[in-house]
Amino acid sequence: MRLILLGPPGAGKGTQAQRLISKYRIVHLSTGDMLRAAGAAGTPVGLQAKAKMDRGELVPDDVVVAIIANRIDQPDAKNGFVLDGFPRTVAQAEALDRLLGERSLKLDAVIELAVDEDILLDRIQNRVADMIAHGKTVRSDDNPEVLKGRLAAYRAQTAPLSYYYASKGIRGVVDGMAPVDEVTAAIDRLLAKGRAKGRAKAVKARARKVSPKAKSKAITRPKTKPKARSKPKSKPRSKAASRKTVSRARNKSKDKGGMRKSGHRRRLTKAR
Ligand code: AMP
Repeated sequence: MRLILLGPPGAGKGTQAQRLISKYRIVHLSTGDMLRAAGAAGTPVGLQAKAKMDRGELVPDDVVVAIIANRIDQPDAKNGFVLDGFPRTVAQAEALDRLLGERSLKLDAVIELAVDEDILLDRIQNRVADMIAHGKTVRSDDNPEVLKGRLAAYRAQTAPLSYYYASKGIRGVVDGMAPVDEVTAAIDRLLAKGRAKGRAKAVKARARKVSPKAKSKAITRPKTKPKARSKPKSKPRSKAASRKTVSRARNKSKDKGGMRKSGHRRRLTKAR
């Protein structure tokens, strides 16, 4: 199972990703987490990314695409993955298509969590307050100012991906404002529907798949001989009976008169 979770920061992608990975035994690939880890490890890429992340800007496409290309080749990703926070631009989505195509892999679904941005801001502020209250470390980009920038970046650069995947027929939208369990149930329904659709497509494709050899045989050599059309059985008529009919018809046409009479008579003469 290969999935993408699409939605602005704070939409609940991380929570749903955790549920999906345990259900489908796949891995959670969050570019945000990977970049934060690289920043904490002090790698050159990580440090460069950190400056952008702290401002709420996107990290360059080639950096994140290289991270994902490397990550999907790891053995633990063989069974599938759920991408969270990637792709974030159309260029990244196109790069992902290429990466998957080169590996003969396909995306199963793109799940978009639709949210109300105003409520979202409150949600994130509450989450931050809760983390501080529990003595947890708060992300440096989880403050109202940076958050507004992240939402603006989402609107401008990531939201177009909704249409990108809708045009490929693999995007499903769920209400991200619903309670967490309801969102999970909606995602389950969406994936079940997608699987049923996939199965029906496969059955149709199998039914349509006739080997070229069998096809040509079917055209040139029909298995069963077409039956000769049998002539409708009619009793041979005696000469006397035929003569009777003709004379009856002649009398009838005499009664009618006009053009038809002469035409009719000509035909009857021939018949005789
Ligand atoms: P996230 O944890 O997904 O909210 O990401 C946090 C930050 O990491 C974002 O605001 C970006 O600065 C950066 N980032 C994460 N994923 C990407 C991506 N696919 N493309 C560009 N920047 C990203």
